Amino acid sequence: MSTKFEKDPNYNFDEKTLDLSWEMFSNIPSLIKHHWVTDNYNWEIVNFFTIVHITAIFGIFRLKDCSPETLLFAFILWPITGWGVTVGAHRLWAHRTYEAHFLLRLFLMLSNSMSYQGTIYDWATNHRIHHLYTETDADPHNSTRGFFFSHIGWLLLKRNPATIEAEKKLDRSDLWDDPLVRIQHLCDPYYIFYAVFFFPAQVAYYGWGENYVNALLVAGSLRYCAMMHMTFLVNSAAHLWGDRPYDTESSFAVENPIVSFLCLGEGWHNFHHKYPFDYATSEFGISVQWNVSKLFIDIMARLGLVWGRKRATAAWELTRERRRHQEIAGNVNINPVPLPKKILVDTKSD
Ligand SMILES: [Zn+2]
Ligand SMILES: [Zn+2]
Repeated sequence: MSTKFEKDPNYNFDEKTLDLSWEMFSNIPSLIKHHWVTDNYNWEIVNFFTIVHITAIFGIFRLKDCSPETLLFAFILWPITGWGVTVGAHRLWAHRTYEAHFLLRLFLMLSNSMSYQGTIYDWATNHRIHHLYTETDADPHNSTRGFFFSHIGWLLLKRNPATIEAEKKLDRSDLWDDPLVRIQHLCDPYYIFYAVFFFPAQVAYYGWGENYVNALLVAGSLRYCAMMHMTFLVNSAAHLWGDRPYDTESSFAVENPIVSFLCLGEGWHNFHHKYPFDYATSEFGISVQWNVSKLFIDIMARLGLVWGRKRATAAWELTRERRRHQEIAGNVNINPVPLPKKILVDTKSD
């Protein structure tokens, strides 16, 4: 297994490729050729994403023809189906940060299916490997291979042998033990097109008489494609641009408010990599840090559908105190990480 921060020997990228530089774009043609010559494309995904992006572009031109109800419906589907990934696949199944009632798990499994990013089983597998082997060859979306790779490129290629090796060592029996995760995985890929494209279209068509093609292209394709890219930003932008107030040693993960807004509170990624067991994935509540996924989990807890929410604020408090003492002692070399700006806000909200 490769060591931390060891780059893929096939790429020889330097630090400049971590931004959207001219060098990154100019590398794309040779990369396309390289993967063609080495037969490294995952054609199922390449074809699927091609369909998604072409139909989403058609959806942009249909926006002006849609009824206000359809536009509102597509907008509401953003959090509703997004929670299937953030609250469900990520915080519940991948990290087990809280426990949930069967009814909530059922809702999350269905909403996850409408924002399909692989099954929950595969998503949680990749995500656990990402946390265990961050920014090594085994990391499925290793951000040291550049923005494009960590955003979407990794999905277009066959899996790295190091990732496959890491998967063999991974315990994911808890995922398979959940019947809802198992059913969704066993039905893959037959439900995808219906859940992602045709079900939202039917709701708009039968619900308020929207033109079926408009509904399919806007509430289906365009909504899905936009959400997919918002989520992908957690793997790309939230490993490239932002502050690292909690941890500069374990990963390049950063705090990125824009990603947090677009991805329902998942952009507080430096805190999350430091404390992956925390159900909020951020230090503060919604009054300080945008985090509608935390808000949703808290509401579900009030309704009795969620319990056992884990927090890392006590662990972080200890680390913060240690840093203060080191600062007072003038020992800046032990932990040179600056305290987060948010620490100045005294009213911590949970
Ligand atoms: Zn990450
Ligand atoms: Zn995570």
